[in-house]
Amino acid sequence: MTTTTQWVLASRPEGTPTAENFRLEEAELPALEDGQILVENTLASVDPYMRGRMNDAKSYIEPFQIDQPLTGTAIGTVTESRSEHFQVGDTVRHFQGWRSHAILPADKAEAIDTNAAPAEAYLGILGTTGLTAYVGLTAVGELKEGDVAFISGAAGAVGSAAGQIAKQLGASRVIGSAGTPEKVEYVKDLGFDDAFNYKDGDVSGQLGKAAPEGIDFYFDNVGGDHLEAAIDHFNTFGRVAMCGAISQYNDRGKATGPRNLFQAVGKCLTLRGFVLGQYRHLDQEFQERIAPLVLDGSITYETTVREGLDNMPGAFLELFEGTNTGKMVVKL
Ligand code: NDP
Repeated sequence: MTTTTQWVLASRPEGTPTAENFRLEEAELPALEDGQILVENTLASVDPYMRGRMNDAKSYIEPFQIDQPLTGTAIGTVTESRSEHFQVGDTVRHFQGWRSHAILPADKAEAIDTNAAPAEAYLGILGTTGLTAYVGLTAVGELKEGDVAFISGAAGAVGSAAGQIAKQLGASRVIGSAGTPEKVEYVKDLGFDDAFNYKDGDVSGQLGKAAPEGIDFYFDNVGGDHLEAAIDHFNTFGRVAMCGAISQYNDRGKATGPRNLFQAVGKCLTLRGFVLGQYRHLDQEFQERIAPLVLDGSITYETTVREGLDNMPGAFLELFEGTNTGKMVVKL
């Protein structure tokens, strides 16, 4: 009999979540059935989209349930196998995160090659993070060669990938926004042509200074004043890939929309939202076109690591305080 230690949803947050919304529990796992594997998790992902799952609301992904274990992407080692597809010692990626041990059907696990890249890369740049950036730039926002691109949340996991991939895809100029002077420097070191600290205020004014010729493409991770700023500075036929709106996830009421949305008419803008789940078919293209650039170091990534299952809710809450650079993961 194996015991797992797992986080459950204790209560639903109103506004910004707190530690009280989470509870750590122990549970006995049943014996393995045919076709199943037992995984000891070593690394787990915390992501902004999990905030939406804490609400009892219909969405593209089902909400977490009170008193039920949380889920999310994780990496672990197979410690017992009743599947011909996996052997004890294999490293796998799967969706039973927020816990120490998990039993899952073999077809819900995917082998990863930690000789090619460190495990954390498979939760970030070589996983859904990198694919999200690629999909937003290509299928959703249709980035064109020569575009001036603006990327918000530029020092975060998706944003830092998006800016570098935009350069690889031929953007003439890439501008980023982030929340500290250190992050602004980091983003410039990644190869962004310019970047600004949105906490200095006047996002639209700062974007205008960084892009006097206007922008053609906006990768929106933040929403709110950032989306409004992009609309202010779009050239004709500008495009927004609406990836996220983290500035609004903890709002208690309905946020005010961009006050300048009507400019979308005169500028012939396209604002297109997306969720990665609808674009998984582009993974092979991403693996062929972008993953080699990660493996040869042309595209780099940062990981912020927090230690211990106990600290997982804390790591998640930090995403809303902006203490991470690059992908936030928890080492179990
Ligand atoms: P990040 O690594 O970017 O972490 C979150 C970052 O958001 C923080 O570091 C912080 O950086 C910034 N942030 C937090 N609060 C605010 C705020 N109020 N205003 C502006 N910035 C804020 O997370 P991800 O890269 O994983 O996700 C980025 C975005 O992409 C999120 O909106 C997420 O929901 C979305 N997403 C969407 C997917 C899809 O399928 N559509 C898939 C994956 C992610 P700073 O210090 O700069 O403020």
